[in-house]
Amino acid sequence: MNDIKKVYLILKLSPAIMVLFIIALVLLIADGSNGDPSAEPVGDVSEFTAPFRMNVNYTITSPFGSRSDPFTGEESFHSGIDLWAPAGTDIVASAGGKVYKTGYEANGLGNYVKIQHDVSGVTYYTAYGHMLDNSIVVSEGQIVKAGDKLGTIGQSGRATGIHVHFMLMTPNCTYSKSDLKDPKSIIDNDLARRKNYKPNLELQPNQRYEPIQPLQPVGR
Ligand SMILES: [Zn+2]
Repeated sequence: MNDIKKVYLILKLSPAIMVLFIIALVLLIADGSNGDPSAEPVGDVSEFTAPFRMNVNYTITSPFGSRSDPFTGEESFHSGIDLWAPAGTDIVASAGGKVYKTGYEANGLGNYVKIQHDVSGVTYYTAYGHMLDNSIVVSEGQIVKAGDKLGTIGQSGRATGIHVHFMLMTPNCTYSKSDLKDPKSIIDNDLARRKNYKPNLELQPNQRYEPIQPLQPVGR
C-alpha cells in the first residue's frame, strides 16, 4: 500500500518537478552565454580610449566577432575591431602600460604593437595591427602613457585597406576565444567622450581640429 502511495505521489508531483527542471534548464542555458567570447570583459576598461588622438575622426569599419571573411567570403571569427582613419594618422596607446611585443605578421596583423596593461590587478593586453612600414616608434619593455604615439596607421599584413585592427585580451595575450574580448565598450565610451570634445583654438591653424568627411570606408 505504501509503495503505491509513493508512486502516486511522484506522479502527482511530476508536473511540478518538470516545471522546476525546465526552469533550471533555462537558467543553465542563459548562464551559458557567459562562455561567449564576445561577452563583456571582466574588470574595468572604462579609462581605455580608441587608439587615436582626440582630434581624429574615425569610423568603425568591421566589428569584433563572427563575420564573413573579406578575403574568402567564408564565415570566420574577427579577433578585433577595425577602425578607419585617414592615412598619416598616428596610432596611440589606448591606456598606460608596457610594450609587450612589437613585430610583423605577413598573413595577419602586419606591423603591430601589443601593450600590457595592469588595471587594479587585472592584466589586459591591447594590440594595434596593420601599421605603416617603419612607422613603429616604441620598443619592447618600454613604458607608455595613454595617448603616446606607437606608430602610423597603414594597411600592412592581411588588410584590404587602411585601418587599425584594435584588439583587447585578458588575462593572456593569445588568439584563444577565452582571452579575446570585444573592444566595443571602449569605442562606445570613446565616441561619447569625443562628442563633448572642444578643440583648443589656441593651436596653430594646421593643428586645429578639422572635421574630416571619411571617404567610403574600406578595409578589414
Ligand atoms: Zn581586423
